[in-house]
Amino acid sequence: MADEYANYIDGEWVESETGETFENRNPANSDDLIGYFQQSNSEDAARAAAAASAAETEWAETPGPERGSILSETARNLDDRKDELTETLVREEGKARGEAAGEVQRAIDIFSYYAEKTRDIGGVNKQSSSRHTNLQTVTEPVGVAGLITPWNYPIAIPAWKIAPALAAGNTAVFKPASMAPNVSRKLVECLDEAGLPAGVLNYVTGPGSEVGSTFATHEAVDAVSFTGSTQVGNHVYDMAAEDQKRVQLEMGGKNPVVVSKSADLDDAVEIAANGAFGVTGQACTATSRAIVHEELYDEFVDRLVERAAEIEIGPGLDGFDMGPQVTESELESTMEYIELGRDEGATLETGGGQPEGDRFDDGFFVEPTVFSDVDPDMQIAQEEIFGPVLAVIPASDFDDALEIANGVQYGLSASIVTNDLTESNRFVSEIEAGVVKINEKTTGLELHVPFGGMKASSSETFREQGDAGLDFFTISKTVYTN
Ligand code: NAD
Repeated sequence: MADEYANYIDGEWVESETGETFENRNPANSDDLIGYFQQSNSEDAARAAAAASAAETEWAETPGPERGSILSETARNLDDRKDELTETLVREEGKARGEAAGEVQRAIDIFSYYAEKTRDIGGVNKQSSSRHTNLQTVTEPVGVAGLITPWNYPIAIPAWKIAPALAAGNTAVFKPASMAPNVSRKLVECLDEAGLPAGVLNYVTGPGSEVGSTFATHEAVDAVSFTGSTQVGNHVYDMAAEDQKRVQLEMGGKNPVVVSKSADLDDAVEIAANGAFGVTGQACTATSRAIVHEELYDEFVDRLVERAAEIEIGPGLDGFDMGPQVTESELESTMEYIELGRDEGATLETGGGQPEGDRFDDGFFVEPTVFSDVDPDMQIAQEEIFGPVLAVIPASDFDDALEIANGVQYGLSASIVTNDLTESNRFVSEIEAGVVKINEKTTGLELHVPFGGMKASSSETFREQGDAGLDFFTISKTVYTN
């Protein structure tokens, strides 16, 4: 019998009013039942928002370093449970073990980082042009933060919202994605065990249309930080903006790697393969287009196909390189795009199917897939697939590559592989992306620098991570004292 897991509201682990649960299963083995989670409704979400609102003043008035010591203790608790959390993450989301361990370490580091930041929060003094005036900016928390997260980084993304929100003195209501709610529940346990006061963070599982939309609209919620698909993000924005809430959106991508005529081909193949097939292509920053100079095109495709063949697919818990897709419906969606790519006239170079063999029988596995002869206007070159599928597009020169790279609705991460300084400088200034990589893969972020996208990938107004991650959760006042 699998366990049933509760919501965490006002410092207590409680069941939903609905009396209903939903089940969660291992995507590498659908016979493996992880547990039952609360199928909460709007009333549960409203109770959580009320608890966060009641805890708001006391937490905001708690000295920053005191808040920081709870975040540091949380980091230590996470560190003590690192192996368990890694296993939980692999089991519910399907990542390879090394990728999951890296994600758990990232969550630990995020809590340590924002724990330190609590000493710097507060504002600055400035020189006034009048000798009688003391000029200051002071910062205050926004109030109650609504945090809505996706399944694909189920501990790192909650951490990079919860840690800065609490560090800055906000209380929060948090809804994880239903496909991977367990590792973030354990993160909440670590906060609880660190001595977080009741109501400061509340965790509610259930459908986005009930729990998420209540967090986006509830009168007690002052700011909504959302990460997920562009379609849902835009809907969240419309709901929250109606009430003039502050909104932060991190959404989809169609991230390119441009391979210049001057590129080192070994580097280019490695960068493209790692960006496209790492985490099964289920990253917002995953490489889904390789835009390759026509003189290198054929050799690049041949070598990429060889590189894809080296990837060992299988359950992350058994040590394989590439795990499954998170659910059957995500797998079906990827298979539909592969079918569409064929229909659109692209050439399927490798992959395109589900691997065969005993270890794949009960999981949602798909092969690393490469399409060549892709036209930039094809749907497989325009839409986010969110699986290990790479579209390789020829370009006649650097200007052509740049135009293709920018010719999509998204603008999250973009990479160029080049040995030409003029090209890399132009790429930095002309590419429409919030994260720009030179001779590095599109995936992989450092926690102390801002992260966010342009165009349909992000709300652009507020960045996450680093100092910028605190801006969304603080309001500044300018004070003139004569
Ligand atoms: P999703 O948009 O389906 O769901 C995201 C969250 O929103 C979930 O918790 C979901 O339950 C909730 N939700 C659903 N309907 C809602 C509603 N009506 N109101 C409020 N909340 C609602 O996304 P997903 O499938 O979980 O994640 C994959 C997507 O996330 C991809 O598009 C990926 O690119 C994107 N993503 C972006 C970033 C980034 O930082 N830019 C990072 C990771 C993932």
